[in-house]
Amino acid sequence: MTPRIRPDLASVPAYVPGRTFPGAVKLASNEVTFGPLPSVARAIADAAHNLNRYPDNGMVGLTEALAKKLGVPPDAIQTGCGSVSLCQNLITITCRPGDEVLFAWRSFETYPLATRVVGATPVQVPLTGDRVHDLEAMADAITERTRLIFVCNPNNPTGTIVEAQALVDFLEKVPSDVVVALDEAYVEYVRPSETQRYDAIELQRRFANLVVLRTFSKAYGLAGLRVGYAVADDAVIDGLRRVHVPFSVNSLAQAAATACLEADDELLARTEAVVAERARVSAALKDLGYPVPESQANFVWLDLGDAATDFAAAAIENRVVIRPFAGDGVRVTIGDPEENDLFLRYAQTWRRD
Ligand SMILES: *Cc1c(COP(=O)(O)O)cnc(C)c1O
Repeated sequence: MTPRIRPDLASVPAYVPGRTFPGAVKLASNEVTFGPLPSVARAIADAAHNLNRYPDNGMVGLTEALAKKLGVPPDAIQTGCGSVSLCQNLITITCRPGDEVLFAWRSFETYPLATRVVGATPVQVPLTGDRVHDLEAMADAITERTRLIFVCNPNNPTGTIVEAQALVDFLEKVPSDVVVALDEAYVEYVRPSETQRYDAIELQRRFANLVVLRTFSKAYGLAGLRVGYAVADDAVIDGLRRVHVPFSVNSLAQAAATACLEADDELLARTEAVVAERARVSAALKDLGYPVPESQANFVWLDLGDAATDFAAAAIENRVVIRPFAGDGVRVTIGDPEENDLFLRYAQTWRRD
């Protein structure tokens, strides 16, 4: 007899990471191009001396540093092995098989996969024509079975953000026992207009069902170490702590993330270069006739429809690796100016009908 594995898992597609090859310019995974700061590398090297010991399972030092930065009590924070693990754990603590997880589509690839791992049902609400979350339609899609809602802001992979008032109106409509996860993986890159500006931590104080998710993988440059965190109400934090895989935030990750917070100003200053390049690349693509929604993240989205796969495949022949979403579009990470130029040169030569 073969081992009995849940048969419904066979239909869960595998997560497809951005791929690359030697010599390629990788603009596929929304990483930053620089390595860790010397102070962060030193913290990692120091922590390596104690790798015979288990990590601090309470993640006390990191949690306290985050609490101080955000102005919340340490009990309002749970760190995890990347914020993807917190996405998974939020589904685990809210859903049983048959319950619904609601999110916009297209959005972060992890949401439907993680939902189906738990046996819950993904409910996907199309983005607007401008590739922005349609929060009114999402509110209308809430049912008695809805247990969790993801709002990805800025949205991966389209880069768009919602209006602040639309978000507040939405939160007022969501039943207070339904958890809303505001996934702010790219928040450090947002340069909001007056009407787009909101304070997520403030909103979390007002709406006890709101969970703010953030990560050290993007602007803080620690994608390889796997640390993210949730800011939430006691009941949600308590649930997350119950399902936390023991020791899954390793010692190097805790030390590095804490050191990053000490160098907060320097790391956040680096987002300015990305923001400037984002404007330059977006404008150049629009000049070439590509439909590009306004991005507030460290990547841009090209609405290419059926041409998406061919466009990305031909880019590889030009040494540029980008992320296609078949039938829909491509996501291109903003890299260093020379990397972006290489991509723009390719985009210029690509044949369009
Ligand atoms: C990159 C990303 C994350 C963070 O992933 P980590 O697991 O923290 O590396 C979360 N949400 C979205 C939308 C992302 O793009």
